[in-house]
Amino acid sequence: MALCPVCKVELEEKKARGVSTVRETTHYFDSKTCKKKFDEQPEKFMKDDGKGSMKTIE
Ligand SMILES: [Zn+2]
Repeated sequence: MALCPVCKVELEEKKARGVSTVRETTHYFDSKTCKKKFDEQPEKFMKDDGKGSMKTIE
């Protein structure tokens, strides 16, 4: 299973409506809208995912 970084919904990779690879990490999206949002501001959504990097607090 994968997690949509935009709306935090779990989905199966093979059912993903979109895929983006940023910094060698592949992200799967449950909708094209989510992919579009992510592609516009990948940093914004990747912050929440950064368990090891807590330095990005604004
Ligand atoms: Zn989503």
